[in-house]
Amino acid sequence: MLINIKNREEKVDFKTAVQCGLGRDGGLFLPPYITPMPHIQDLLELPFVDRSQRIMQHLIGPNTDATLIDTLIAQAFNFPLHLSAVDPHIYCLELFHGPTLAFKDFGARFMAQCLQQFNPGKKISIITATSGDTGAAVAHAFYGLENVEVHILYPHNKISPLQEKLFCTLGGNIKTYAVQGDFDDCQRMVKACFQDDEVNAALQLNSANSINIARLFAQVCYYFEACAHLQHNQLVIAVPSGNFGNLTAGVIARQLGAPIKRFIAATNANDTVPRFLHNQEWQPLPTKETASNAMDVSSPNNWPRIMYLLNNDFDALKTLIKPGVKSDKETFSAMQFMHNNGYLSEPHGAVAYACLQNELKEEEVGVFLGTAHPAKFKETVDTVLDVSTPLPEALAQVQDKQLLSVEVTNDTSAFKQLLLQ
Ligand SMILES: *Cc1c(COP(=O)(O)O)cnc(C)c1O
Repeated sequence: MLINIKNREEKVDFKTAVQCGLGRDGGLFLPPYITPMPHIQDLLELPFVDRSQRIMQHLIGPNTDATLIDTLIAQAFNFPLHLSAVDPHIYCLELFHGPTLAFKDFGARFMAQCLQQFNPGKKISIITATSGDTGAAVAHAFYGLENVEVHILYPHNKISPLQEKLFCTLGGNIKTYAVQGDFDDCQRMVKACFQDDEVNAALQLNSANSINIARLFAQVCYYFEACAHLQHNQLVIAVPSGNFGNLTAGVIARQLGAPIKRFIAATNANDTVPRFLHNQEWQPLPTKETASNAMDVSSPNNWPRIMYLLNNDFDALKTLIKPGVKSDKETFSAMQFMHNNGYLSEPHGAVAYACLQNELKEEEVGVFLGTAHPAKFKETVDTVLDVSTPLPEALAQVQDKQLLSVEVTNDTSAFKQLLLQ
């Protein structure tokens, strides 16, 4: 059972929450409280998929078909994750070995499996706007699933050519639209479709939003993997953060019993949360462009979940989560430092690594989340490190494929007509 943390009388089951995305008044869903899991040591000894199935069953509760959950997890988590030593006390939990080379594959793939399975035989359409990474994760997660059609809008010529190749060459049930306009136009057009009864009825629209509870729960699972490998009682995890879904999942993992001592909330110059942790004032500033662009978020919309999980207790919050802010210059130095030690990283992970370098105490062991593959940020990585990063399979394969996107104007009614055809 889940509650809407903004409107606490609203209680829904997991299936409903996955299908609605948001609750009434735009509230986020969470379990009312997190019950610790028994026998943590036994849990840590299980292989990743088996362990994740147990965690998911515990989070979702006894009213959902356990066999179904097991199947969904096995189908979603069908790629490896690694823990790599970067220096003697710091490790990278590499979450970027999925089909689109970013940690978002975990959440997007699990959510896709859920949405399809919870509507057996029913046709649904997913519509979403992307400025790059999310589009690819969502497209690959739904690719080839029966009865699901996916529509992705992105600003024409405003995403990197490799990013575009990654999700606009699939075809099949994935339709992509290159919008003559910017990301805000795309978001406006998607919103207008959701508000249009005719479009909604004809297409059975569903969103693939990043605040979906299925994405959050999926991300809880990989924190246990770091604990399983390190078996250390002074584990500090640094999370490169934008919308703070990843850190929220970490806090849930710890409340379930994952042996994590504390977290570092690592951000780039978009430091709303670090400033809040200093002075308890929530003051978003205009978004700044940085080299770690997936973290260029000034109003992180998962933050209310973290406050709820910690009972709005500011002292508890400050003990558990330390802030860390890195400029692009500091991020690039961290990339260079790691490279000199033989480890290739990209700007997002490097922000978190740099925070650990400052913060980690003698007796502690640090892990930072590797949220993206270095080749995904090839231009920056190659320039900063003076290297030529090889493209992994997933990118090399799509490089020469033909783009299948339809070019559209930013005119909403014309776009609706196109969808209804
Ligand atoms: C989305 C993203 C982040 C930020 O994750 P949040 O859960 O939004 O805090 C960090 N790094 C990369 C590479 C991402 O794509």
